[in-house]
Amino acid sequence: MSEKSPKLRAELDGIPTYKPGKPAASGGAVAYKLSSNENPYPPLPGVLESAVAAAGNFNRYPDMACTGLVAELAERFGVPVEHIATGTGSVGVAQQLIQSTAGPGDEVIYAWRSFEAYPIITQISGATSVRVPLTDGDVHDLDAMADAITERTRLIFVCNPNNPTGTVVRRAELERFLDRVPSDVLVVLDEAYKEFVRDPEVPDGIEFYRNRPNVAVLRTFSKAYGLAGLRVGFAIAHEPVAAALRKTAVPFGVSQLAQDAAVASLRAEDELLGRVGSLVCERERVHAALVAQGWTVPETQANFVWMRLGERTADFAAACEKAGVVVRPFAGEGLRVTIGETEANDLFLHTAEAFFKEL
Ligand SMILES: *Cc1c(COP(=O)(O)O)cnc(C)c1O
Repeated sequence: MSEKSPKLRAELDGIPTYKPGKPAASGGAVAYKLSSNENPYPPLPGVLESAVAAAGNFNRYPDMACTGLVAELAERFGVPVEHIATGTGSVGVAQQLIQSTAGPGDEVIYAWRSFEAYPIITQISGATSVRVPLTDGDVHDLDAMADAITERTRLIFVCNPNNPTGTVVRRAELERFLDRVPSDVLVVLDEAYKEFVRDPEVPDGIEFYRNRPNVAVLRTFSKAYGLAGLRVGFAIAHEPVAAALRKTAVPFGVSQLAQDAAVASLRAEDELLGRVGSLVCERERVHAALVAQGWTVPETQANFVWMRLGERTADFAAACEKAGVVVRPFAGEGLRVTIGETEANDLFLHTAEAFFKEL
């Protein structure tokens, strides 16, 4: 047949596909998945029960406005309900933010390397990615990012802590940066790992949102709250940005299961954040052990560590996998390892030590 295939938008050519973290191998030795920054703990009992109860009604569409969840979040953060917009994970909300602000001819600035969804969702919208290299210490170069702003800039992502490096930007430098950004350019503070931050100089993005209408804060239930599989995240933003997010949302995108589980998670916050505390302890232990082994590992405020291994990345990832730990390699650059259960972390450290000795 010589018929032509349906015409697709040229912008889709060459979009990198999102690489999900590899699943842990099944069969054979124990295998741990440290490749997707997930929470290793299973859902809390109360959270599970609310999801199971919601499942009994899944012949019905969910509450499209996520009324209960939005009310709960508004109260918790002390913001108007109109300033909260939910979506299918914070990646979903990030995509809506781009759809709301940028199209062909417009520019979206972000650090690189940073979250791998940014280039994908930017390209889908037809906008142009402007990638600003991290500093030598793998930190956002905010001065260079401000210098990169042009007439065409519509949106800037600041991923804090940064995925995959775990590094942070602190209050004073972020404030200086925001002062340089024109008020008609939206700055999105992606705080997917906020709950793991212990450095008091790392600001809560909501501080900046309060008196800056061009700042939006992105949060998710996928990491600290352990609901990655349910797909629910949200933004806190002023009008008209929040209203634009409601316009660009996929109708009924967030399931009732996700909404109810998210509310239950917020109510079980003490216990959840206790788990986060244990993961932070494990992070400090893993980081210190790697440094003691001789590795250079940037300070991390997230639930993962970053090892800049360059050409040795693939070999080390293979060694980890052989040992039963699946990590996230970025070929030729480095490797991101999620902090998991203690046994998984031990197995990883063991593998790292053996690998270092053979270098
Ligand atoms: C994991 C992650 C998200 C959250 O993804 P969800 O879509 O909410 O699961 C957002 N931003 C960054 C930087 C992340 O690492």
